[in-house]
Amino acid sequence: MSNAPKTDDHAKLLVALQDIDRMLKEVESNSGAELKEMGFNLDGVEEVKKARARLAERVPPQLLNRYERVSKSFDRSIVPVVQDLCTGCFARIPTSFRYEKNAVMTCESCGRILYFA
Ligand SMILES: [Zn+2]
Repeated sequence: MSNAPKTDDHAKLLVALQDIDRMLKEVESNSGAELKEMGFNLDGVEEVKKARARLAERVPPQLLNRYERVSKSFDRSIVPVVQDLCTGCFARIPTSFRYEKNAVMTCESCGRILYFA
């Protein structure tokens, strides 16, 4: 076991952020009346937005900017690497990327943010 100080896992933070953003997007694409019919508690949305802001504060600004930029082009902007493939575009990821496990990498083919699951 290492005694190194525990730092935030940025990829995990971004994945959580993406889940929230996808949920908010879905909520915002429906009208409030429709959502109430579905039994959705709209007060909860404000809470989720606050949670998103707290989460975003823990992501380094540079990375957050990258995430926001990539999010404009893709439904999923951060994707796991599975068997050396980007699961966004299925391009092969150079094996050297694996040695930078803690770094948040970008797929050279599609530009999505990658993480190692
Ligand atoms: Zn890709």
